[in-house]
Amino acid sequence: MNTLTAPSRIADLLKQWNITEDHSGVSTGKQWLKGEGERLVSSSPVDGSEIGTVRGASRPEYDQAVKTAQQAFLEWRTWPAPKRGEVVRQFAEELRKHKAELGKLVSYEMGKSYQEGLGEVQEMIDICDFAVGLSRQLHGLTMHSERPEHRMYEQWHPLGPVAIITAFNFPVAVWSWNTALAWVCGDVTIWKPSEKVPLCSLACQAIVSEVLARNQAPEGVSTLINGGREVGEWLAHDERIPLVSATGSTRMGKAVGAAVGQRLGRALLELGGNNAIIVSDKADLDIALHASLFGAVGTAGQRCTTTRRLIIHDKVYKTFTDKLVKAYGQLRIGDPLDEHNHVGPLIDRAAVDLYTKALATIKEQGGNMLVEGGVLSGAQYGSGCYVKPAIAEVTPEMDIVKQETFAPILYLIRYNGDVADAIATQNNVKQGLSSSIMTTDMREMERFLSVGGSDCGIANVNIGTSGAEIGGAFGGEKETGGGRESGSDAWKTYMRRQTNTINYGTTVPLAQGIKFDL
Ligand code: NAD
Repeated sequence: MNTLTAPSRIADLLKQWNITEDHSGVSTGKQWLKGEGERLVSSSPVDGSEIGTVRGASRPEYDQAVKTAQQAFLEWRTWPAPKRGEVVRQFAEELRKHKAELGKLVSYEMGKSYQEGLGEVQEMIDICDFAVGLSRQLHGLTMHSERPEHRMYEQWHPLGPVAIITAFNFPVAVWSWNTALAWVCGDVTIWKPSEKVPLCSLACQAIVSEVLARNQAPEGVSTLINGGREVGEWLAHDERIPLVSATGSTRMGKAVGAAVGQRLGRALLELGGNNAIIVSDKADLDIALHASLFGAVGTAGQRCTTTRRLIIHDKVYKTFTDKLVKAYGQLRIGDPLDEHNHVGPLIDRAAVDLYTKALATIKEQGGNMLVEGGVLSGAQYGSGCYVKPAIAEVTPEMDIVKQETFAPILYLIRYNGDVADAIATQNNVKQGLSSSIMTTDMREMERFLSVGGSDCGIANVNIGTSGAEIGGAFGGEKETGGGRESGSDAWKTYMRRQTNTINYGTTVPLAQGIKFDL
């Protein structure tokens, strides 16, 4: 049992990064600005204690920080990419050293299990490792020119300062997915973390600033601007920032996308999901059970990739749901730092209200609760943020089923025809992030993955909807925003492409055979 639940212990934890109870949340690296803007209160959903206040940026401080980032870019972009990669390699080394402490802080401030907190830091390390290799592979293509004695190729240049707006549920990993790539690409980054988890951002900034300073990187390569939604709005409207990467709700993404689009900037949007697993009558039900359980209750249902809907074939419906209900009966809910527990708290009481409202709406719209939900009370649930994972039998047309409720509520939907029917049901929502099919039938699997299959950015077979690896591009379609970050060729979003044509001959032939003789 890990007993890190007392505020005094968190103070000890924060001391190693020189984070005091009331700390500025605005930094351009080694320098911390005063933090004259909004004061953010960090409360742990684990036990309800206030664990610190973080001072956000005023508008003049914001402008000063962006200016420093702009200046830093002018130098950083001239460093050879493998040299930038070496800085990222050293950052990963520091993260390895700080893994346990940072994992605990994530767990305590956000409320996810300690194991998942460690997993988040591991994702940071993984993306850094990926980026180090990438720093030697930022390659373009060469093409054959249609004109004699001409050479044509493309190259990729850094973009400039990249804004990163992040959500509460991944307080550290999503920042690193963006920064590790952006830095090796030659960009500098400006992070606006969620106002619900500001302490995690201070720890990350403290760790990386040491590494940047040790390597004599210019001040401003890693800039941190804490604050509320307003700071996100400043970034979205700011013409000095060519790329805004924003992770959060679809409501936020629509606002950011509109503001960035209006100034013809570039937006990378990672928004809400409504992810489904299809359980075919040819599924291995044990695999399906494990995947569904973790997908639905992991991080207390607060992952963008959480499994929200199970679309189950009639022939296995009863057998499978009996197993599922039994497994839900064995879930242990409580302090996420106690490794015996499976489910921790929701982020705050506002999230609990949304959960409670959703349960009432399910009943109003005709759903049948197979596993009743409810808010837990008692001393160990003193923060008021602990809720029971619930299961509801629903029909896919119900409005509530089409929305993302960011809580552990799992919807069960039956199908009885062909797998095409299940796929159509799965696709019939506005979100398009992650999807899975559980089947041992090769034809069903291929149909799920084919052009008429899943319309999501992620489509898995015999694994759940959550827990993506950093090697693949991550993101989703439709109202999930269309962005891709992390692995594969996601780095291209952080750079601008330039096509170069060189004439090494003695005449000037025009393309398309056009003559322009004088
Ligand atoms: P949120 O939209 O409330 O806030 C996310 C961030 O956006 C915060 O930093 C917030 O301050 C900022 N923000 C809010 N409104 C803004 C605006 N108008 N302009 C600029 N910035 C603004 O989301 P949340 O509650 O923190 O996170 C939960 C949501 O995030 C869920 O919908 C979840 O699915 C989504 N999410 C998506 C992914 C993904 O990769 N697709 C990953 C994690 C979370």
